[in-house]
This record gives sequence, structure tokens and C-alpha cells, in this order.
Amino acid sequence: MNPEPTPAGQPDVLVVGGGIGGLSTAYALSRQGLRVRVLEQAPEYGEVGAGLQIAPNCTRILAEYGLLDEATSLGVVPENMVMRDALDARELTRLDLRDLERRYGFPYMVIHRSDLHGIFLRACERAGVELLNNQVVVGYENVEGGARVLLQDGRTESAPLVVAADGLHSVARRALIGDEVVNSSYVAYRAAVPIEQVKDNGIAEDDVTVYVGPGCHFVQYALRGGEMFNQVAVFESPKALAGQEDWGTPDELDAAFEGTCDTVRKGIPLMWRDRWWRMFDREPVETWVHGRIALLGDAAHPPLQYMAQGAIMAIEDGWVLARHYARLAGAAPSLADPDWDGALAAYEAVRVEHCRRVQTTARAWGELWHLDGEARLRRNAIMRARDARDYSFTDWVYGPTALTPAEEPEMFTPIPLSSATVEQPVA
Ligand SMILES: Cc1cc2nc3c(=O)[nH]c(=O)nc-3n(C[C@H](O)[C@H](O)[C@H](O)COP(=O)(O)OP(=O)(O)OC[C@H]3O[C@@H](n4cnc5c(N)ncnc54)[C@H](O)[C@@H]3O)c2cc1C
Repeated sequence: MNPEPTPAGQPDVLVVGGGIGGLSTAYALSRQGLRVRVLEQAPEYGEVGAGLQIAPNCTRILAEYGLLDEATSLGVVPENMVMRDALDARELTRLDLRDLERRYGFPYMVIHRSDLHGIFLRACERAGVELLNNQVVVGYENVEGGARVLLQDGRTESAPLVVAADGLHSVARRALIGDEVVNSSYVAYRAAVPIEQVKDNGIAEDDVTVYVGPGCHFVQYALRGGEMFNQVAVFESPKALAGQEDWGTPDELDAAFEGTCDTVRKGIPLMWRDRWWRMFDREPVETWVHGRIALLGDAAHPPLQYMAQGAIMAIEDGWVLARHYARLAGAAPSLADPDWDGALAAYEAVRVEHCRRVQTTARAWGELWHLDGEARLRRNAIMRARDARDYSFTDWVYGPTALTPAEEPEMFTPIPLSSATVEQPVA
């Protein structure tokens, strides 16, 4: 690397990537009085896509940041989360989200991802975070007293801490770990349309509904105070399984949902057809911190989306890092010399295991959703037998974000499919 120090002065923290993970972390650290600079490659800050579900383990943090009211005013707090079989539309299980809010103290809500991103962007601006664009980071290295990044235009930037929140295809991850993304062969189509367009489709406007089917699933919920309706269609691509380059195309979308129930089939023509999201994750890794370079968000732990926790984990990461910084700064003799090594070790000690659990559960959850044949019937029987007030499957993830490994709750005990009595298919 050819060191050419930036003329703008050195911040306390450099955050690479201005997605939800990068911005929320920048905000969390700036609340501690730190000078934070965000380096984003895109010419503008923004988010592509449609809705995001945010569970109480995230709304709890938004409340602490003073951002929850803004989020609820822009989003929707649904009444139920209902899971249905995508073939026969029968209800399998549900969460009463009002009851869930009473249990965890904070709402389960849905929001347009650009609205959540905008909330963090405005919070960063108010907090004085330096938000730079057109900053393509191509290299990282640890240096005396911190770390340095190399930009595509040859400049360098350095700080006592560099947080790499550069997403699924992270340059930092490639440099520090060198692993490959794992292709699930599943692809997501999204759409957010005016609610009028779907009123006659048999939708449940006040619920999050997830239709699970063989090799596919379909998610629906209202957005923006109920004015819009969000849909996500996910399926396993035969072309991906056959090793073809051109996979996940709209013809595959149509074929994947052909045998599904009315409401799902009516939703498919509304999906955006000019872009789709191939679904990758990575194997969990145990080391996210390399000297003063820390991976965060999807760069550290990209999940498959079946737990709807990817953005939430990124927000939790920043909250945990800032909390440990503050704890150690309070104990430090001088604020000018923060114990970053201590804060990073504490961050890694608790977040790696939590996110590993979410990543591996998301894979297992996806397999369960996409079952066919007798396994599907066994799954349905187990889900139907679940007591709607049984929170043993959510306590480990929707409760307060752990700051230490000792605070991390026990996981649930999976119910084996073999324990179910097979029901006769509905004619
Ligand atoms: C279909 C789908 C549905 C989802 N639903 C949910 C949900 O309901 N709930 C939930 O919590 N999560 C959900 N997620 C996951 C969530 O979107 C991601 O986990 C989250 O956005 C990751 O945020 P991030 O900031 O870590 O990464 P990103 O959003 O990928 O941001 C990375 C940023 O870094 C920038 N960048 C990249 N490389 C460089 C570079 N070299 N130099 C400078 N900048 C760079 C990028 O431009 C980008 O702005 C979903 C994902 C998908 C695909």
C-alpha cells in the first residue's frame, strides 16, 4: 500500500460501507462522542429493495436510540405473523404480534428498507457523522495505532479503528478471510405495490403472512402505513441446480409457483421482473477482528433470509460494539486513549456465536419451509400442534441483545420430523 494521508484529518473510526449496518454503527459510535467517517462506494446513500421485518431485538435498540417513533410512523405494526401451506393455504401456525410485543416489551414491525436506511442516515447527519460517497475501498492493513484503508483512486485513510460493513461481497472479508460465498440455488423476487392492486387477491392486510411450499415460499405484508403491499417470492432455481450461469430468471419464477394456492398465484404477476436477488450466505467464521479491522453486518455473517434477522444482526453488532466501547471508556484513565482492543474482543466474544446460531438456524428453517411429500405433512402436523403462545422458538432471538456470552440465552430444542403423525393430504 502506498501511504498518502488524507488531508481532512483523522477520525476516531472509519466505517466502510453505508448500508444499514454501516450507518447504524456509525450512529451508535457517534453517540459515544466519537468522530466517525463513513466511506461508501456508491455516488449516493440509499437502499434497493422493498420491505424489512424488524423484530423486538431491533426495535428495542431503535427505542434506545430515540428512533422508534419515527420508524413506527413510517412502517406498519402488523397484528399477526401467520404461516400457511403454499399449496392448500391452510394455516399452520401463528404469532399474535400484540402478545409478542407484551412479552418482549417492543414491537415486531415492518418497514420499507429505504425508510429504515433513511432514519439512520438522518440520525448520522444530525450526529455529525462524516458521510462520504464515491469512496471505493480496495485494500486494508493494520498500522501502528490503528488501521488503514486504500481507496481505488490511490488515496489512503486511517483511524484507530476500521469497521468493514461492506456487505455480502465484502472486500475486507476477501482480504482477511478469503472464503467464498455459499450459493443456496434459491432466488428472491420482490415487489412493493400500491395496496389497491392486491385488495382482491385474498390478502390479509394486517398480518405478515408466509406461505411455505415445496422448493418455494411467498411472503406478504403491508408497508408505509398500509398504503403499499410488500411481496417476496423465493424459490429454488432448477437452472442453478443444473449449474447454468443464467439462473433465477422470470420463467423460472412462474414455473415455481404454478401449483400454489390462489392468493400466491395472484401475487406472482406483480413481482418486479427486471431484477432478482440470488441468495447466498457464508459458512460462519470465528474471527471477525483482525487487529484494528473489524468485520460487521453481512461482511461478517451474511445469512439466508429465512429468519429475517440479517439487517437486525448488523444493527445489533453496532450497538454491542458501542456499548463495550463506552463501558471501557468509562474505566479508562483518558478518553483520548480508548481500549479498542478490549471493546473488539468483547464484541467478537458475544456476536460471533449469536450470529452463527442465526445463520445455521436460517438454513435449517429454510429446509423446513421448503419440504415436499410426506416430510411436508409431518412439518405441517408439528406446526399445527404448536400452542400460539409458545415462545420457546423465539426467546433466544427476540429477547434483549446479549452483551456477553453469559447473557446469550439458551437455544430452543428442535422437534424431529419423525415425531409427527402424518396427516392425510386435504383433497
Ligand atoms: C430478499 C431479502 C429479504 C431480507 N429481509 C430481511 C428482513 O426482513 N429483516 C432483516 O433484518 N434482514 C433482511 N434481509 C437482510 C438484510 O437486507 C441484510 O442482512 C442487510 O441489509 C445487510 O446490511 P449491511 O449494511 O451489512 O450490508 P449491505 O446492505 O450490503 O451494505 C453494504 C454497503 O457497503 C457498500 N460497499 C460495498 N463494497 C464497498 C467498498 N469496496 N467500498 C466502499 N463501500 C462498499 C455498499 O455499496 C453498501 O452500501 C433480507 C435480505 C434479502 C436479500
